[in-house]
Amino acid sequence: MEKFLSFLHRHRYDILYVFSLLFILCFIAYIFPKEDTKSILDTIENKTFDIRQNIISKDKKANKDIVIVTIDDPSYEYLLETYGDWPVPRQVYAELLDYIQEQNPKYVAFDLLFIKSLKRVPQSDAKLIAAFKKYPNTYTAINFDDYSFEIRKPPLIDNKITTDIHIESKTIDPYEYTNCRQIMPELINATSNIGHINTPKSDDGLIRQIPVFINYPDYDENDYSKKAIKNYLYMTVKMAVDYLNKYENANITDIKVDSKNNFIIGDRIIPLTKNAEAILNWYGESGMRNGNAFTYVSMWEVIKSLRAKKAGNPQILKEDFFKDKIVYIGTSVFALSDIKTVPTSKYMPGVEIHATLLNNIIENIIIHKASLPYNIALSLIIAVLSALIVFKVRSVYVSVTLLTMLIFCYIYYSVFVMAKYNLWIWIVIPLLIAFITFVISFIIKYLITSRNFEYTYKLATTDGLTELYNHRFFQEQIRKQIKTAEKSKGNFSLILIDIDFFKKFNDKYGHQAGDAVLKHVARTLKSSVRTEDFVCRYGGEEMTILLNNAKRETGVKIAQTICSTIASRKYELSPDLEVNITISLGVATYPENGTTPTDLIEYADRCLYKAKENGRNQVGFLE
Ligand code: GH3
Ligand code: MG
Ligand code: MG
Repeated sequence: MEKFLSFLHRHRYDILYVFSLLFILCFIAYIFPKEDTKSILDTIENKTFDIRQNIISKDKKANKDIVIVTIDDPSYEYLLETYGDWPVPRQVYAELLDYIQEQNPKYVAFDLLFIKSLKRVPQSDAKLIAAFKKYPNTYTAINFDDYSFEIRKPPLIDNKITTDIHIESKTIDPYEYTNCRQIMPELINATSNIGHINTPKSDDGLIRQIPVFINYPDYDENDYSKKAIKNYLYMTVKMAVDYLNKYENANITDIKVDSKNNFIIGDRIIPLTKNAEAILNWYGESGMRNGNAFTYVSMWEVIKSLRAKKAGNPQILKEDFFKDKIVYIGTSVFALSDIKTVPTSKYMPGVEIHATLLNNIIENIIIHKASLPYNIALSLIIAVLSALIVFKVRSVYVSVTLLTMLIFCYIYYSVFVMAKYNLWIWIVIPLLIAFITFVISFIIKYLITSRNFEYTYKLATTDGLTELYNHRFFQEQIRKQIKTAEKSKGNFSLILIDIDFFKKFNDKYGHQAGDAVLKHVARTLKSSVRTEDFVCRYGGEEMTILLNNAKRETGVKIAQTICSTIASRKYELSPDLEVNITISLGVATYPENGTTPTDLIEYADRCLYKAKENGRNQVGFLE
């Protein structure tokens, strides 16, 4: 404890300095716009997520039983050519559905909107509606928005396509839309397998997460302000619940969000963001362009096959191509605009995002973010380690290398836990903290060592009694001074001082009094010269002064001033005893009185002897 207190005392200025530095940093952080800071940090953190996803997706395999029938550019061309227009008459989808369903797929989902107002051909529409009625394993989409009521009155949607979600969480805040583009009402009559397909983007325009459900008001026809809120599941989530019930015997009757914002469907616990989104675990580059994920087949191949089958001709696709498959039908044509950027792919059709979510739920690999205490603990560990590196390692190179290795290990760990446990731990904040700790530790260490160095240097160069420079320092300094003067063709003077009759003084007043006088004389000498001059204790009661850039006249003048100053001073040994002492001095100037330390000291000594000879209390001269 005592040691610690003395440490604190010794380093009080360093501590003050570090705390002021921290205070300034906190102040900068405080005045910086909070939202911007958070958004910058979030964006960088998201980028690290993307990099991690790109690394780990190489080892992930998408379910090849998920088949995407894509309306790609050649198909778009083919459909335009065959049916003369876009969108194609809805009976084409009815025929397509019949063709696929004949092969007993697990599911067929249309990532397409069968809009009420769009080019309705009643007989053609009726065929599609009949097909939906016939196949209960078929899904389709609805899309919500926030258009002004002036543009369109929001449609009232039959509650049969809503889902009652049991929400225990107090913090969840799902996206809420106020308007909707109405799909064919007959379709809603025909099936309840309709889910939303809204996919809001992150700040940087990428899609990383999908709202598993959104809210839309249950408007009253006569009063649009009276509205209970209803939950709508994402189309694929709706399908996934059915999948778990049907193929994993999950028997899900209650869908809920628990108090920790987990979306619970059977044994699948899907952690949600604040906006009720699931963070997707990607399967690499989109399969749309030779990527690795899912099975892709072009719409034109399917249409040609079904036409060939009708005509009794050989088909492009195998007879049982869709057997037991989960089939998604969607567009991947740029012109039709449903192309998104996701962490692992610049161009991914919306339909593949559905496939990714379904695959994630089946595999149970939805990403979850590490809890706040876990992230804080990690940040603390890496901060402590980086501080230890600074304080335990002497070499700067080694400590920087170790810090780099620490950062590398942390990043490796973050990739490892994402690959193995689907866990997203923070990277940006811990590394920022580690870096700041490293720099601050360096500053502290530098301050401590420089103070220690100063302290040791002082010990090695000063005399304990008088606090003047010691004999060793004097010898080094005079050599240095000669060198500099030699180079610059300059000069300097050396004064040698000896107290008069000091033996007698000691005998009369005692050694203690002698010591006190020595200290007084030392102080007087120091205050009589400039800061760039050096006052040293040569030995015993002899002292020297090195006067920088001082010609002989200057040296002598200063020596004379000192001589009279000392003689005029009175020293109080006790309240009723004042004494007075005198000194004798000798001056030597470089280069005229000598060019080596020995010569200069000898010259000054001979002058000093003259002073003694001539009666003391004076500056001595040879001639
Ligand atoms: P002079 O005028 O000829 O110089 O007479 P002096 O008595 O001063 O003779 P000298 O210079 O030889 O004196 C050396 C004395 O200085 C011996 C010793 O008693 C005293 N002395 C040397 N170092 C110390 C010290 O650290 N403390 C005290 N109290 N006395 C010291
Ligand atoms: Mg002496
Ligand atoms: Mg003396």
